[in-house]
Amino acid sequence: MFEKFYPDFFFRSIDDIDEEFFLVNGIKFAILDIDNTLVSYKTTVADKRAKAFLNMLTKNGIKFAFVSNNHKDRVSLFAKEFNAIFVNDAGKPFTFGIKRAMKKIGADKKHTVLIGDQVFTDVYAGKNAGIITVMVNPIEAKETPFFGLKRRMEKIVLKNYKR
Ligand SMILES: [Mg+2]
Repeated sequence: MFEKFYPDFFFRSIDDIDEEFFLVNGIKFAILDIDNTLVSYKTTVADKRAKAFLNMLTKNGIKFAFVSNNHKDRVSLFAKEFNAIFVNDAGKPFTFGIKRAMKKIGADKKHTVLIGDQVFTDVYAGKNAGIITVMVNPIEAKETPFFGLKRRMEKIVLKNYKR
């Protein structure tokens, strides 16, 4: 029932995703969420951790693109430093943003992973796009009532998954 919400892989954070993971799973392309996945939603440019992760991807020949539901000013500023392809206002859980980014970097479904922090936007969109999905814990939770509700619902879905 919840299959579309189950990530294929779960990591505590991007720090735990190493080159081995990409190699073993034959992953050559990465679609990356920014907010709360790579950096806090409050952080405008990549910090040390995010840079280390993105450099690791580049070093291993993995092409990446940022696909964010956030707006152009935020997403373009973040991507600029890496000269990276990005899609802002990506409309996840819909797949059009992911598909557009995949096309731009020449990615195919079989060799592409989505990495994000949210079940109902990132994982669901990735699943519907037919690509591999990785979920990480959000870096910093937004303190809004709706966000709290979403997290609780995610917990229910993921609890089912872990059984
Ligand atoms: Mg996010």
